[in-house]
Amino acid sequence: MRILIAEDDPITRKFLESHLKRWGHDIVVCEDGNQAWSELNKGDAPKLVVLDWMMPGIDGPTLCKKIRAMETKPYTYIILLTAKSSQHDIVEGLEAGSDDYITKPFDPQELRVRIRAATRIVQLQQDLFEALKASEFQATHDSLTGLWNRHAILEVLQRELSRSQRESRPLTVVMADIDHFKNINDVYGHLAGDVALRETAIRMTSGLRQYDSVGRYGGEEFLIILPGCDQACGCASVERIRSDFELHPVVTAEGIFEVTLSFGAVVVDTASQAAVDSVIGAADEALYRAKETGRNRIEYSSLI
Ligand code: GH3
Ligand code: MG
Ligand code: MG
Ligand code: MG
Repeated sequence: MRILIAEDDPITRKFLESHLKRWGHDIVVCEDGNQAWSELNKGDAPKLVVLDWMMPGIDGPTLCKKIRAMETKPYTYIILLTAKSSQHDIVEGLEAGSDDYITKPFDPQELRVRIRAATRIVQLQQDLFEALKASEFQATHDSLTGLWNRHAILEVLQRELSRSQRESRPLTVVMADIDHFKNINDVYGHLAGDVALRETAIRMTSGLRQYDSVGRYGGEEFLIILPGCDQACGCASVERIRSDFELHPVVTAEGIFEVTLSFGAVVVDTASQAAVDSVIGAADEALYRAKETGRNRIEYSSLI
């Protein structure tokens, strides 16, 4: 496990470092509170830290409070190291947010068992954090395509509508539907259809900017959200996707599929107070027109 130690006394520091290394841990060594604070602010900061109580810069209990204020995820387990052993001091250290304490001078056996207990907790916290992240992903993403699912993309739309009004920026919302997708299923089977759907989703996403969002709205329907895009910008983005599919078939291990899409687009201008339902309704109406007028094309709708 990666462990951060912050200790100003060189002898204790060396003692800690050599023992922890011998027990197989990876150590980040700090000589004072400021150095420890800067290490703890890095993206991959250790989740188990051993802090001396008294050291230059920021002392142990203050550092504890600062770490707790950061609300790190996963949890940071803190052991305070102190020469103080009165009950009052121990309570003070735990009140500051530490999980455990070791009083100096300490013997290696005590250090070993306390570190072992700490690594168990840190590992559990990390596992829990990973499991939570995975279930959050599952709840918000479509399992076939990996795109936002319908519920999540509608939440993105709600958020982007509010933001576009707040920041007075336009927003383009597009409903896209694969043309004659039923034929692919009928000719090649549903499994091949699934593969074609997944590849279509990947291709669609790769043609967009980082801050655009795409969700699987229904079976072979996708909702595309282009923040900051007015008619010209929205039109260029959607046309890029449309022509890309027209020119390049979707190549998969299951076969090569000529996939085209029809698009219904709505530009929500800065003065609009549009609600999610009316934006979806308008995009749907434009998509219907695109289908009616020949497919593989983009139609626009305005909000009433
Ligand atoms: P149109 O151009 O009018 O949109 O024709 P279409 O065939 O694409 O539209 P239709 O609504 O008739 O059929 C949609 C098809 O999409 C039918 C359905 O079986 C298929 N589909 C929906 N979801 C999935 C999926 O997850 N996997 C597969 N393989 N097919 C799907
Ligand atoms: Mg000290
Ligand atoms: Mg379709
Ligand atoms: Mg459809």
